[in-house]
Amino acid sequence: RLFNEVQDLKGNIRVYCRIRPFLPGQTKKQTTIEYIGENGELIFGNPSKPGKDGQRMFKFNKVFGPDATQAEVFSDTQPLIRSVLDGYNVCIFAYGQTGSGKTYTMSGPSGPHEEDWGVNYRALNDLFNLSQNRRSSIMYEVAVQMVEIYNEQVRDLLTNDVFWILAICFLDLHTLGIMSTSQPNGLAVPDASMHPVTSTEDVLELMDIGLKNRAIGATALNERSSRSHSVVTVHVRGKDLKTGIPLHGNLHLVDLAGSERVDRSEATGDRLKEAQHINKSLSALGDVIFALAQKSPHVPYRNSKLTQVLQSSLGGQAKTLMLVQLNPDVNSYSESLSTLKFAERVS
Ligand code: ADP
Ligand code: MG
Repeated sequence: RLFNEVQDLKGNIRVYCRIRPFLPGQTKKQTTIEYIGENGELIFGNPSKPGKDGQRMFKFNKVFGPDATQAEVFSDTQPLIRSVLDGYNVCIFAYGQTGSGKTYTMSGPSGPHEEDWGVNYRALNDLFNLSQNRRSSIMYEVAVQMVEIYNEQVRDLLTNDVFWILAICFLDLHTLGIMSTSQPNGLAVPDASMHPVTSTEDVLELMDIGLKNRAIGATALNERSSRSHSVVTVHVRGKDLKTGIPLHGNLHLVDLAGSERVDRSEATGDRLKEAQHINKSLSALGDVIFALAQKSPHVPYRNSKLTQVLQSSLGGQAKTLMLVQLNPDVNSYSESLSTLKFAERVS
């Protein structure tokens, strides 16, 4: 194994919690977060019902408070991401209500500041740099797909002419047999365009295109981004130059649709349909992770597009990390509680 840290990770499912700060300009700062422990303890409570009655304790592998930086969150995630270079499949997803910081954690705020980079940029950049450094013993290729799942339909977020040309170059390499795969299920979404990454600029450009394409959908359909799942898939193919042994790991980085419940009495038409699809796919995801955590012989992958797309990185030897996002505001008390209950079930 290239990275010993990975062996220290207990089990294949980890759950981290991240609490976002109050936003600038938010004047009334009443928090539901009563205590954050060193070892992943979280005491959650309702400030209008102080004392033991309103308090609940949750336990995570790790809790990141409002002051945690993007770099801190990434440093606890990095060993998992690096195991992709050893041929593991890894899935990292952000779960939580709209506004709880999922996109901030996964992508970061858009802008030129490297310290703001979220997990997606850092992961890709790290994988890309490491794969270059190891070129003397293992030859790696890194390529990326990015799709959005909306109402159980999968849409490619990276269609762009220039990148299509690069994609064709990569596929040529692949079919020439320079790279081969040990995993038959490497391509969960074979129709989505595949983009080789050969520099940090490529990484930034790809993420940019993906986010823009997601935003285009958003304006057309009124904040659609919070009602769709976005999935970045990073394929790493390697070949040991001494032994000729091929390896293939893939990494799924998922910014899930908002988990908030929609009031059935208010939602109608398209809004109701969206809500039902989100509900169905998030509970399918919960059911899959729950089945895996229970080591159940039957894992219900086929119940949603989301779990089908992610199947190769959920279960078996795969490693899964759920980043549970919370808005600390007392007004989000009941949504936060249901987020915490979802997390409790799968951890
Ligand atoms: P979501 O994707 O879950 O809907 P966002 O990531 O868009 O939520 O976050 C909502 C708002 O909170 C955004 O303005 C975002 O910049 C801000 N935010 C979220 N997390 C943090 C954080 N850790 N530090 C600073 N601002 C944050
Ligand atoms: Mg978002």
